[in-house]
Amino acid sequence: MEIVEDTVYLTDSELKRLNQVIQKMIAEMKLYREFNWKSLKSIAQKYDEYNIRIPKPKAVVVPMKKQEVIGMAMQYFQSLGNDIYHQIVQAVMQQKKNVIVEVYDKHEIHDYTEMNEFDMPRYDDIPNVKRIKGKPQSTVYVPLHSDYSRVEKNAIGAEATLSDLYAFVHEISHLLDYNPNITENKTRKLVAESTAIAFEMGLSEFLLEKERFPREAIIYEYNTRANHLFNCLELFYMFLELIDSKNLVEEITKESLVQLQDKLQYKAKYTKYLFHRILKERSSLLTLGNYGIAAMLSPTISQKLRDSKKREKILEYLEYVKNDQLDKFFDPLELGEQDIDYDTMFQNMQMQLDKINGREPYKREI
Ligand SMILES: [Zn+2]
Repeated sequence: MEIVEDTVYLTDSELKRLNQVIQKMIAEMKLYREFNWKSLKSIAQKYDEYNIRIPKPKAVVVPMKKQEVIGMAMQYFQSLGNDIYHQIVQAVMQQKKNVIVEVYDKHEIHDYTEMNEFDMPRYDDIPNVKRIKGKPQSTVYVPLHSDYSRVEKNAIGAEATLSDLYAFVHEISHLLDYNPNITENKTRKLVAESTAIAFEMGLSEFLLEKERFPREAIIYEYNTRANHLFNCLELFYMFLELIDSKNLVEEITKESLVQLQDKLQYKAKYTKYLFHRILKERSSLLTLGNYGIAAMLSPTISQKLRDSKKREKILEYLEYVKNDQLDKFFDPLELGEQDIDYDTMFQNMQMQLDKINGREPYKREI
């Protein structure tokens, strides 16, 4: 076998494990296959063709007070109309007995074993929402300063930062398409992140209009997320290709892996990371798919969400997701029926990117 630079090679035992995991994943991936197996692949391919450009942002940290984070988030939700605002108020003000929202300084929590009244951990060190299967209660965790890759708390000495506002909006938005009566919601398994990230993207537009924060800080939040989503999309696409080749050749060999990398011209960095994820953490591959789908759908969802004339469509979408209507949830997004309307999808993506980055609309050369 010819050794090609940048090609990633697996050992025999790694290869065996890769085949085992992919075999197991084929069943789990059925959901993705039914809905958008092909479209995900096409999207990832078209991503190159459409030349979506996401500038690497410069890190900007904006200090905030904790109350300001909550207040600003509520102002944003209010700007999205009564329906949404009402649901959020119920959740955040904890009038609904089924939700606890915990906002705390992560540096001040020393005991992560403490439990809350739902018998769930009181704290967690990353923003997320937890539920116990079959029970209606949710705990929303928003640890302030959880993003240590960006800044150390002591470096700014603030209660919170703009990043915490994004995390708060993201996690709270997860409540909007959740239905405690459905334990296995397939639709939500696909698009939960699309919903939450659409609300994040809408926040960027809202904050730009408010002019309360420096534009660079908003660009930083937006582009960091957008880059993350497209990385997930690319990785997930590679993973789908791997599954396809496993179906084709039955057993992935060292040679077929080399051919695949060759054919797709993957960067070694990506390939290594993907193999790592497949070999180490199988469940995280589904998360990868969820974020990949968000790359496609979130700009369209957030655009309609912010448009009072089209918001009705998103309320419909949220209802369909909430009630696991896999055959319907896509319709309100108006992205095609039988065939996905990629042009509109990519235009929406590009338009939002340009708007946030303050660029002239980008014209695609055909
Ligand atoms: Zn999320």
